[in-house]
Amino acid sequence: MASSINPAVVLKRKHSDDDDDIDYELCLICQRKSQEHLKVASEHGWQRVLSVAQEREQLNDTAYPIVIKNIHSIEHLDFSNTSLKWHKNCYSSFTAENKLQRLRNKQKTSEPSTSDSDGLSHRVSRTSVSATDWKRCIFCQSTDVDNMHRVSTMGLSDKILSHAKYDLTMRVRLADVNDLIAADGMYHLQCLVLFERTRSSADADNRLDAFSGQSRSTNMVPFHM
Ligand SMILES: [Zn+2]
Ligand SMILES: [Zn+2]
Repeated sequence: MASSINPAVVLKRKHSDDDDDIDYELCLICQRKSQEHLKVASEHGWQRVLSVAQEREQLNDTAYPIVIKNIHSIEHLDFSNTSLKWHKNCYSSFTAENKLQRLRNKQKTSEPSTSDSDGLSHRVSRTSVSATDWKRCIFCQSTDVDNMHRVSTMGLSDKILSHAKYDLTMRVRLADVNDLIAADGMYHLQCLVLFERTRSSADADNRLDAFSGQSRSTNMVPFHM
């Protein structure tokens, strides 16, 4: 599971330890000579690259170690005095929101995020509020893999989420989730069945309570006319 260090990447590092070893005439992101048109970075683009680099680092992303290191070494540069360039494609794949989202999800499943440093991303710290361990059954929170299933249909996801609204524990546990497929929700079949059964008998009790004004009881209470 540990993906923090990728030795191949470390060995391939083409830069010396000299942190200024960045060629500003080349694409900042790939540092490669190519015929592809280089776009001059806008200040907005640079801010975006900076914040993405920080977030990728925080999420232990291993895809761009050199880029992140380079950006680190120049993060305080005077933007107005330096002209940064990059390929449009390099910029878009580095900053692609869907890839970041995948990293965030991965982080969420591998360890509860404890990152609260420099208020970087609201979303990152918001997900850490939930202590749900997504490798466990969402109902019993055990890691027993026997009979463990992954939520794989939107219908099931919706059903669980809508039932969960009426169950305090489940409501808290699933509070910031609106798609259990995306969240990689896992469950034991027997836990699901139990959850649904409790849910529907609670519904029945509530209906009975509302109707008769009696407190809930599973015994047969004869009605006296
Ligand atoms: Zn490039
Ligand atoms: Zn379970």
